[in-house]
Parts: sequence; C-alpha cells; structure tokens
Amino acid sequence: MKQNYKIIIGLEIHVQLKTKSKMFCSCSNQAENKAPNTLVCPVCMGLPGTLPVPNQKAIEWAIKAGLALECAINQTSKFDRKNYFYPDLPKGYQISQYDLPIGEKGMFEFYSQKDSKEKSVRIRRVHIEEDAGKLMHQGKDSLVDYNRAGTPLLEIVTEPDLCDPQDTKIFLQDLRQLMRHLDISFADMEKGHLRCDANINLIFGENQATPIAEIKNLNSFKSVESALIYEAKRQFDEFSKNNNIFSKGAKTTRSWDEKAGVTKLLRSKEEEADYRYFPEPDIPNLKFDDEFLEQIKSSLPSTPKENLTWAVEVLKINIKDAKALLSDLKNFEHFKRTIELGADPQKTARLILNKYANFKSRYKIYDFEEFGIKPEYTKSASTLLSRFNNQIENSVVEEMFKTKADPEYIIKEQDYKTTNEKDTKEIISSVINENKDAVSDFKQGKGQALGFLVGAVMKKTRGQVDPKTVQKILKELLK
Ligand code: ZN
Ligand code: MN
Repeated sequence: MKQNYKIIIGLEIHVQLKTKSKMFCSCSNQAENKAPNTLVCPVCMGLPGTLPVPNQKAIEWAIKAGLALECAINQTSKFDRKNYFYPDLPKGYQISQYDLPIGEKGMFEFYSQKDSKEKSVRIRRVHIEEDAGKLMHQGKDSLVDYNRAGTPLLEIVTEPDLCDPQDTKIFLQDLRQLMRHLDISFADMEKGHLRCDANINLIFGENQATPIAEIKNLNSFKSVESALIYEAKRQFDEFSKNNNIFSKGAKTTRSWDEKAGVTKLLRSKEEEADYRYFPEPDIPNLKFDDEFLEQIKSSLPSTPKENLTWAVEVLKINIKDAKALLSDLKNFEHFKRTIELGADPQKTARLILNKYANFKSRYKIYDFEEFGIKPEYTKSASTLLSRFNNQIENSVVEEMFKTKADPEYIIKEQDYKTTNEKDTKEIISSVINENKDAVSDFKQGKGQALGFLVGAVMKKTRGQVDPKTVQKILKELLK
C-alpha cells in the first residue's frame, strides 16, 4: 500500500455583494430579518415579459475584486443562462457568466501561520451571478422565501493549489478580509454572505488518485477545515481498502454533517453540459474601456497584504498583533489614523486589541469614529495609560466609551494617580521624607512602622497602587 500522497484542494467561493439593490432589479438587497417574500418583484420572480437590468455598482465591485485578485479583466464580458430546476430558483435558470467572466487568471497570496510562509493560490476566474431563494423545511412542508433571489454574487474559483485543510481555512479568512477591505461585502460566513464549496482528492505518486469529491455549502471556517480533514482521511481509507482507485472514478457531491462530523454522499456530480449554458438574450454584452478600468484601478485601497507588510516591517508590530488588527478593517483604519497623529504603534495596537475589543462588542460598534472615539483619544489613551495600573487603565477606557471624552480629561477629572514604578518610587520617597519618626522607628526594628508608611503611601495615591509593591520598594529604599 502506498503511503505517500498529496491532498489537492480547489475552492468555489460565493460572496454576496452588499449593494443597495439586487443584481437585475431594483428590489432591496437588505434581506436580513425581513418577512419572507416581501422583497420581490416580477423581475426577480422571473415572471414572463420582464427584463433584467444589470446593477452597475455590482459590476464595478466585481471588477474591483478581480483587480485586487490580480486577474486579467475581460474588456468584453457577458451574461449567460445556467439552466437547472430547483424550487428556490423561480426562473428555472440562473443568470451567471460562462465563457467571458469579469476576470480570469489571477493570483491570491496568503500568509500561512502553519509554516510561517507566504503561499499563493491561482485564481481561475471571477464572475458575477445572481443568488437563489431559500428553502425552509417545517415538518412535512417545504416553504420558500425569494427575498434572496437575485442578490448579486461574486463567484471566485481557484485552481487546485491548496494542499492542506488548515491552509485552506487561512486562505479563506484572508480572502474574507480582502472582501471586507474592498468594502464590497459583509463577508460573514455564518450569515451566508460568504459560502464555500471545496473540491478535494488525493494523489498517490504518478498516476493514482482518488475521485474528486465536492463538499457543498461549508458555512463556517471551522467546518471548512474539519470537513476537509475528514474527507482526506475518508478518501485515504477508501483508497487503502481498494488500493486501486483512479481519478476516472465518478466525481461525487457530498455534504458536511457538522454534528456527526462526517461528509455524506449527496449525488454523483452534475457535469457542465447538464446546465445547457447559453448567452442571456435579454442583456447586451458588457464593454469596459481603458478609462473606466483605470478609474476603478485607481480607487483600489492598499491591499491587506501591503498593510500587513507595512505594519510588520515599518511599524515593527509583531505579526500576530498585526494580523489580528487587520482582520477588522475598521480597527485597522482607526489604528492607522492614531499612528498618523504620532502615537506609538505597538502600544496602540495592544490598546485596540486588548482593551477596545470588549466595548466594541458591548456597544455593537462598527466604526470607532462614528461611535465617538476620536483618534486623538486613542492617542492619549495609548500614551497616558502605561503610567497607570491595569485597573485604572480599564476604568479610564470604560469611562471613555461611556462618556466619549478624552482620556486625558478623564484622568484629570477623576484625579487618577500615576502608578508606574518610577512615579510610585517618587511618591514613596516623599512619604519617607515626610515621616522621619516612623522611618527611624522602622530602622530600630519596630515592624509596625512599615505598616504605617505603607498606609501613608496608600492614602496619598488614594489606594491606586499595589500595597505589596509599596512594601517591597519601601524596604529597598530604607535599607
Ligand atoms: Zn426584484
Ligand atoms: Mn455559482
């Protein structure tokens, strides 16, 4: 039995674009928490005689994503009908793109924490299509909600360049970050804004391989990783049992059962021809001239990768903090503006990651500045707070989020006393100078005099220092 094998993984990723309206009609695209079938019209319901009109913003955003993924953008692009029957697809076909997608032959690099290496994955294509509705099963009944039908989707197809489940998860996380960074999708996997199908098989030596399995609708990063780990092992066991499975074997479609922790056979995979693609006759070809593409190119923000390099190499922030900071674009923007004011990068990064995170979730803050935390405040917090102990630091930050006031003002107002070692020493020295009697008592061996001095320091700092530290410093100074 051959033991040496390689895992081959390729992904098809669907990203919901957060445009105001749907892909081909003016229905609202904000379907979250809306009553079923309230965001529908004859166009997205596919009624006869209606005409689809492409959403310009969605096309621009798809080009933006294509450029960020280093794709060649097709100057002529077109829509095609992908025909299949399913109850959540009102028209009986999906408007998608077949042979002239928005972009092709791209590349996405991600940083694998697994072996601390940059890795690149080729992007086969990036195209636009519309989402289907949602089926809901209640007991014996199946209900359908068409609110989501017609939501613009960006489909990103990779070449099979991934070879490890954990890397695949990291790749997807970085891709999500890029989508958020481009400001084109909320890209929340749990909410279905970002969905992933994974193709996986194993290659044994030169000419033996297991048949490709496509695992459908993975809807969390964890399930992507677990499903791939499980499926690789399942294929290996299967191969070992038969020792003779070639890639000619039928491709299969499988689902991931999160609870049971297994993939299950759904069906043998539909081949491309089953979809009977043909050009969408109701939408003229899209033509993009150089000027238009140039305009989009110049609007691209620096990529997350460029930002990471900047944070690590220029600002000297450790990579773990830099990655954490970049995983939330709004955190990063706030960080950047604070740094521009001259704040210390590492201190600011830690402040945002360690102290702000709490309040961000407590007050459901999306954007700090919108909420009322100015970069100036973060700057004064990052400079002032290191002079205080953890407890005071927390109170000041809490007060800042509550009152939206400058930490400098809060510290003055509350009359917080500095508690770093240097300042504490100064206070202790002054207490020593002011209490000559107690000092000489202590030097003559009267132990309780030390307690008196500690008390004096505590009184002076209004209890904002650690008594044990005070005792230690006092003993040193009185030696
Ligand atoms: Zn509609
Ligand atoms: Mn698709």
